[in-house]
Amino acid sequence: MRGLPRPFDRNSIPNYLAHSTQRKVPERRWIVERRMVATHALVKEYVNLFVNRRAYTIQSFRPHPQRGRHYYYRPTERSSGAALQLNEKTISDHMEGKITIGLYAINPANQRCKWVAIDADYTNAMEDLIKLQYHLGSDRVDSALEMSKRGGHLWIFLAVPLLARKCRLYIHDLASRLGVPVKGSGLVEGIEIFPKHDVIAAGAFGNAIRGPLGIHRGAKRRFWFYGADYTLEAQMQFLTRLRRVTEEELDRFTAGKELPANIVKPRHEAAAMSDKPRGSRTRFCILDHVGKTRILGKNHVTRCPSCEKAGRDRGGDNLAILVADPRFYLCWAGCTKEMIRAAVGEPIPVRRIA
Ligand SMILES: [Zn+2]
Repeated sequence: MRGLPRPFDRNSIPNYLAHSTQRKVPERRWIVERRMVATHALVKEYVNLFVNRRAYTIQSFRPHPQRGRHYYYRPTERSSGAALQLNEKTISDHMEGKITIGLYAINPANQRCKWVAIDADYTNAMEDLIKLQYHLGSDRVDSALEMSKRGGHLWIFLAVPLLARKCRLYIHDLASRLGVPVKGSGLVEGIEIFPKHDVIAAGAFGNAIRGPLGIHRGAKRRFWFYGADYTLEAQMQFLTRLRRVTEEELDRFTAGKELPANIVKPRHEAAAMSDKPRGSRTRFCILDHVGKTRILGKNHVTRCPSCEKAGRDRGGDNLAILVADPRFYLCWAGCTKEMIRAAVGEPIPVRRIA
């Protein structure tokens, strides 16, 4: 399919000038939500990637009268009351924004998942997701970051359906090593890991998460993945190209590990960072060395450590770190990467020439 037009951009319209004498085109015409068409091929890819069982939930069109939230419920056939099953039409309606569905992680027939999703919607949620994404990368685990109403969802795809228990073990272990809080037992705020159960009983469902690429009824907008253009084609292409975790890899990541008894371990920032397993190659991540960050467009913005040493950057916004890949960062005041690395006490090692 052809690429759809970009949102309103005055630079691409020569006649859009304040003093133009020509008849003005109403600006609104250019910013209308582009119509999305979910082709058969896109629906098929979506099913391959996300649908692990046919049970699903649907987000209500109307908010709860008291609480104002758009809750999810399991849809049933009006006449018989039988639970509806996902089909191609449901998926295409979801992708086209006509309805919004929730997807279950675990298939009770084999207790396996096709994906793992990490949901975070608290203050600094994005920072934790980026940190997880970065460290997943050191295991060569690709992940896709999806925006959400208050934070984001980080998705990992699996080469074949893998045991929910091991998926959870892997992410819990990683979060614990990084000092990323996990919601539950004691902690009010933290990441939520889907699947939320090791096993579910026959006839049970576990927890559903909003199906990606649909329109959130409450926010009345679509949340996209970072890293690809905002069209269904580009987004699906981006997702299907991500490397998927194999069973052998997951076995290796979880060998000899067990979920902590209380699942959640308290957050010990300092200990967690120095508590890395021996022999694991840890890469430098600038996000581990800066203070409070905020997201501005495609970047995290924060105080530049090198400027700070020189008593500059009072505004705390000189350093921009690319959200999609924190290996890329830039100080607007001109500090070099070498200066920044030296300022945080992690100078860039001098490369040895073979
Ligand atoms: Zn600087």
